[in-house]
Amino acid sequence: MSRPAKATINLSALRHNLSFARSLAGNKVIGVIKADAYGHGAIPIAQVLQEEQIDCLAVACIEEAIVLREAGIKTPLLLLEGFYGSDELPLMEYYNLSAVIQQKEQIEILQKWSGKPFDIWLKLDTGMHRIGFLPEEYKPAYTQLRNCPNVNRIILMTHFACADESENDYTQQQIDIFRQTTKNFTEETCLCNSAGVMHWPQAHGDWIRPGLMMLGSSPFNGPHEHDHQLQPVMELTSQIFAIRKLNAGVPISYGATYVTDRPTTVGVVAMGYADGYPRHAPSGGPVLVNGQRTRVLGRISMDMMTVDLNPIPEAKIGDTVTLWGKGLPATEVAHHAGTISYELFCNLKRVPIQYVGRSNAKSEKP
Ligand SMILES: *Cc1c(COP(=O)(O)O)cnc(C)c1O
Repeated sequence: MSRPAKATINLSALRHNLSFARSLAGNKVIGVIKADAYGHGAIPIAQVLQEEQIDCLAVACIEEAIVLREAGIKTPLLLLEGFYGSDELPLMEYYNLSAVIQQKEQIEILQKWSGKPFDIWLKLDTGMHRIGFLPEEYKPAYTQLRNCPNVNRIILMTHFACADESENDYTQQQIDIFRQTTKNFTEETCLCNSAGVMHWPQAHGDWIRPGLMMLGSSPFNGPHEHDHQLQPVMELTSQIFAIRKLNAGVPISYGATYVTDRPTTVGVVAMGYADGYPRHAPSGGPVLVNGQRTRVLGRISMDMMTVDLNPIPEAKIGDTVTLWGKGLPATEVAHHAGTISYELFCNLKRVPIQYVGRSNAKSEKP
């Protein structure tokens, strides 16, 4: 028997979430699949999104783009941080990539390019203050690019800092700055990450850029009206492989941070921080045993964790434990651990990944 920890990636759920995103915003979609599609596996995710005729895919850097092209992905590909140096341009031409342009050094590199012109996504810094041109720099940057023979199509873009806080009007301020700065431009626009797609319809523009919501996870910290429409793509599961009956007053796991306050049946689960489960998740975090909710007890170890089986007296060795997935959103687990589901997904390692629902619904046998 092999170690039971595994991640199951449901590609039908991915198709569903994409069509939900499309139903919210009838625009063109860039599927954001940087960082190996947030740990879900960029190639299989890209293959499904390509089958679903997504308009574009976005990755962080050229290395991630090349992996997809070499795997046969033909969909337009966007580099979200653009290029870091002029040596990337021949590769961008060869692999047919477009780039975000976010600072003048990149414009200077483009002006010296002598190959095929590129499509570029011109980033306006409306308040994220990470990358992008400030409003007063935007028009000059645009004019330089428009006059540059090495530039084909220009798309106007920005990125939100707080769109996942549904009550925070900072997003509206960013939208206003974007509209104000680009009001005399006729080019297409692109503003929204998942939170923007789900909560800020006034910002949908011509293109949307969802990542997390396609994976069926909500970017919002609390409940959101669209939560129930998202189907989790990743399910992280394992099994109970040992059961202990402990008396009251007994400490559990490293550091003896949790002490039983009553006689407690403890299940030991084959899952730990070496698999990507967050070590900083405190006692009390939610977990499912046979689909029933219970809680983590004591510190997470490298390969194991301990859970409370008092609420589930019939639980036995070999029973399924769901760390996140259907019935237990990764966002909720992340909240307990003081992080976000993005980080949980990206940290996934060691566990084998199994893909289900690969075939298109149309060709699937009943
Ligand atoms: C990662 C990223 C996205 C996608 O964000 P989600 O919150 O996962 O939807 C969109 N735009 C940019 C620029 C990004 O870096």
